[in-house]
Amino acid sequence: MLLITNYSRSIIHDVEGYDNHEKVFYCYDKESGLQSFIAIHNTKRGPALGGCRYWSYKRFDSEGLTDVLRLSRGMTFKSALAGLSLGGGKAVISKRHGVSQQIWEKQLRAFGRFVQTLEGEFVTGEDVGISVADMKIAAQETDYIVGIKPKETDDGTMRDGDPSPVTAYGVMVGIRSAVKHHFKLKTLSGIVVGIQGCGSVGSKLAEMLHSEGAKLYVTDIDVTLRERVAHEFGATPCDPDEIYSMPMDVFAPCALGAVINEDTFKILSANIIAGSANNQLKDHSFGQKLREKNILYAPDYVINSGGLIDVSYDHFNNFDRDDLFRRLGQIGTTLEEIFKRSDTEDRSTNDVAQSIAEERLVVPEKTKKTKKTKTSKKKK
Ligand code: NAD
Repeated sequence: MLLITNYSRSIIHDVEGYDNHEKVFYCYDKESGLQSFIAIHNTKRGPALGGCRYWSYKRFDSEGLTDVLRLSRGMTFKSALAGLSLGGGKAVISKRHGVSQQIWEKQLRAFGRFVQTLEGEFVTGEDVGISVADMKIAAQETDYIVGIKPKETDDGTMRDGDPSPVTAYGVMVGIRSAVKHHFKLKTLSGIVVGIQGCGSVGSKLAEMLHSEGAKLYVTDIDVTLRERVAHEFGATPCDPDEIYSMPMDVFAPCALGAVINEDTFKILSANIIAGSANNQLKDHSFGQKLREKNILYAPDYVINSGGLIDVSYDHFNNFDRDDLFRRLGQIGTTLEEIFKRSDTEDRSTNDVAQSIAEERLVVPEKTKKTKKTKTSKKKK
């Protein structure tokens, strides 16, 4: 049986990461041991959509809660800046050692039932630590899972529902836009990019940048993985601590958050920061610090919105390949607008991005008309 606790404002208002979230729930399932948070930050533009992260936190009740609060807020801004009729939400599941596959599957099904209790107010999919196969298990218990439907690619072949390749494509579009703005260059040929994290997004980004003629440094805490990606895409592998000071034009964080902090800021050699990781800046003030150092920062929730755009078609049941590529191209246009406004208004890029998102939350845009054809097959 699921034990679900609704965290009211009075309980969490002083928790780090809290920003007037609409709803926050904690779920415990005794049978499987599932511990999970779902945070719904803002639904002014539509139902809250955001991935589910499976991660090992030192203290789930504090660190896990802060993570879900920060990540769900980022999703609100991401949806608004991508022009989607969606709100911001996120889920986290506590990862514990020694959990068998059988228990993990029970946890996923319990998580699916947790999601179903929200009756569509929150829609979720893959994030760090969660695969398409995992989400298919959760989807046995809920109608509100995205990122599990196969889709046609640009060369006519099919891919599974994992949005990571699309996220990587959006990041590359964003890197092009940043390189054009900062270096006045139209191609990525010869540009040096340091990729932190060779997982689903980082490895695909390495492949794309390599084919565009960029020179690469790659790192990952998984040594085998970074050596493999380096070998496949002609990159130079380096240790995780070394990546910040490599002689690169662009630093692409594609691992975890808060990588731009007091320590890394001092040694960072890049002119541009443009990658997929969520919450790259330790806090908002680093945007201004980067600007003062003439480092162009592509706000994370703008440049990494490709995956969200991709899975939004699953939610609205209206996938259109040409429309997907048009929207991914808009990531570059939106960044260009942010970079220009940052220069003319003498404000950091993350400040400008936040203002644009907040403007869009006040007056919801009329976006493309969508058809929803879901009929619930799940027990309520
Ligand atoms: P992933 O789990 O597949 O890959 C992350 C990689 O980072 C792993 O290989 C891991 O070993 C490595 N890593 C962890 N800590 C590291 C460190 N300190 N130094 C170097 N490498 C480290 O995740 P992903 O799906 O590729 O996502 C990467 C980032 O992009 C995450 O922050 C995720 O939230 C964000 N993001 C992903 C998507 C998507 O579509 N997958 C969409 C938006 C944002």
